[in-house]
Amino acid sequence: MTHDLRTPLQFVKGIGPRRAADLAGADLHVLEDLLLRLPRRYDDREHARPIAELRAGDAVAILGTVLSAGERRTQRRGFRIFEAMIGDASGQVRAVFFNQSFLADVLAPRRQVALFGTVDRGRTGGGLQFTNPDYEVLAGDAADDGDQRVHIGRIVPIYERVGSVTPKMARRIVHTCLEGLPGDIGDPLPPAVRRRHGGLDRRTALLRAHFPESGTSLDDLNLYRTPAQRRLIFEEFFVFQLGLALKRRETDTLRKPHAIAVDDRIRRAALDVLPFRLTGDQRQALREIVEDLQRPRPMNRLLQGDVGSGKTIVALLAALVAMENGLQAAVMSPTELLAEQHFLNIARLLEPSRFEPVLLTGTMGAKDRRDAWERLAEGDAQLAVGTHALVQEAVRFKQLGFVIIDEQHRFGVIQRATLRRKGIQPDVLVMTATPIPRTLALTAYGDLDVSVIRELPPGRQPVATRLAGERQRADVYRFVQRELRAGRQGYVVYPLVEESEKVDLKAATEMARQLQTEVFPDLRIGLVHGRLGPADREGIMRAFAAGDIDLLVATTVVEVGVDVSNATVMLIEHAERFGLAQLHQLRGRVGRGAQRAHCVLLHGDELSAAARARLAAVAETTDGFEIAERDLEIRGPGDFVGTRQSGVPALRTGDLLRDHRVMEDARKAARDWLGEKPPRAEVDAAVAGWSERFHLVGVG
Ligand code: ADP
Ligand code: MG
Repeated sequence: MTHDLRTPLQFVKGIGPRRAADLAGADLHVLEDLLLRLPRRYDDREHARPIAELRAGDAVAILGTVLSAGERRTQRRGFRIFEAMIGDASGQVRAVFFNQSFLADVLAPRRQVALFGTVDRGRTGGGLQFTNPDYEVLAGDAADDGDQRVHIGRIVPIYERVGSVTPKMARRIVHTCLEGLPGDIGDPLPPAVRRRHGGLDRRTALLRAHFPESGTSLDDLNLYRTPAQRRLIFEEFFVFQLGLALKRRETDTLRKPHAIAVDDRIRRAALDVLPFRLTGDQRQALREIVEDLQRPRPMNRLLQGDVGSGKTIVALLAALVAMENGLQAAVMSPTELLAEQHFLNIARLLEPSRFEPVLLTGTMGAKDRRDAWERLAEGDAQLAVGTHALVQEAVRFKQLGFVIIDEQHRFGVIQRATLRRKGIQPDVLVMTATPIPRTLALTAYGDLDVSVIRELPPGRQPVATRLAGERQRADVYRFVQRELRAGRQGYVVYPLVEESEKVDLKAATEMARQLQTEVFPDLRIGLVHGRLGPADREGIMRAFAAGDIDLLVATTVVEVGVDVSNATVMLIEHAERFGLAQLHQLRGRVGRGAQRAHCVLLHGDELSAAARARLAAVAETTDGFEIAERDLEIRGPGDFVGTRQSGVPALRTGDLLRDHRVMEDARKAARDWLGEKPPRAEVDAAVAGWSERFHLVGVG
């Protein structure tokens, strides 16, 4: 029976409505979706390792027969261990599974099974064993499909389980579909590109990517480096990049209704507000931005730079250029506190100039707000600093020509687009302190240009960072006390998780009380959190900035923007609850002055492997770009920027991190091909369904 690639999965042999519904949940709808989902790994069942040759630490597959199996209770309540002895011609080995009683029906004696996992000596240090390995029943199973050639004696694909569709079922289904594939299955790669980059034809690539030829290197397969895998990954990336390039071409045709120029008068005005010498990277970024401003098409640029790298002044100088050209500018921040800080900071910096900013937030009084609206609508105010309040219906600008969006990952695409629409094809600068690995920047934000500030302002020393467990708490407190007695200030940050906000807020409040009464009675302790009104919050932050508070207990509201250069200690409670990027951001609150700063990551006693890896990464490096790469490795690109809305493409075949080289090749290939002016029909065919396919929402 042959199925073409557009066949809905429900009608594919072996699937049916129930499994089709499960697959649809994983965004797999038609046969092509299933075939372009590569296995999550491959098992060598052609040369499975004889049990007698296993060594502790090996990650291996074995084939064998269940000799005996059964469950035993342990001393820990509710904790059961299922144990099976597996044997082959060479020997036998134990496999243990925790709390999986159902295995009694699966790994029954005399069944032939494949196990995959790491063998070690277990807790007791006795004989070798597998702990919670992957398993598959090969024969003697009630659900046996009879054709063992699919499952043993070859390199087999192991798929992600999707609902009721087990890896073994998926293998059977994919195998059947590949056998029945029609002769001509089409190819999204245009002929010219296929000749240059395609390698294998698409059909062969599909066959070999799922059922590799005998003798294919298992390492290459598991690194997704075989020609067949590469061919399919390239295909996906090419289509993705082609769509991005087309989108880019569209925005390139937009024209600003105004022109921006830079002359000596403007240069002098900029020098007047500049309080220090810009670093080389700041100068370079500013140059790139100002060049964009002078172009006829609106700017769409991302300014990346670590916490404290000095993005504000760069953005402000660019805004000054726009304002000197008679345009208005707006700075949008994710929180009230940050907007207020930006406002104060910017007002101070602009003092020598003829411009005055207005603040616009959601909580300001009705009268002040109407006043601000009026000044913006009339054009009396040239610069608005605010929160989402800036994108409200009622806000009108006279001549909004430049939009700056700070800490972009917190804003939805929609808000960005709304602000953009309030302007007259405004230039848009998005600033982020989350250094995005280049691969992601090129892809997730493919229609933005990128400027990077890597160099920190002179005189900064890296923040000394260390981990500490509960048992070291007293030592940590002594250390904090020494620093504060020497006249420095510090933060204690408490995680505030949304689901348990009340509980955590109570914990933070209690912590502040205890620190004040029991631990540091001679120091001045403050508490700031998101539930406080903006006036109270600002009052406390002001007191901290003025040195009237020594130690500030805070929930993550201090995460962005706060700038107190005398603060040299950052103590993060429950550090394991924070993400990597967040930890790095928090740490960036200290080390802004000339003094050496310290960050202590206090963690609970039971750390997951991922949490330990996160904390170790933060302790080992202060380079935001490296942290970002590690973050991507630990969490995967899906989580990196948050939701799908953030613009990260939903990739099916390739992986941004693993296959970043291929992505770069594909990007070049797509641009080169478009440059050759290919027939319109070919372009349309290649990107048909692009937006739905990658779940991408326009960036603006
Ligand atoms: P971020 O990139 O995190 O927004 P800021 O713009 O807030 O960083 O700058 C951090 C601090 O560094 C501020 O106090 C700012 O005044 C200072 N700063 C920025 N650039 C320089 C520079 N070139 N030389 C000295 N200090 C600088
Ligand atoms: Mg900033």
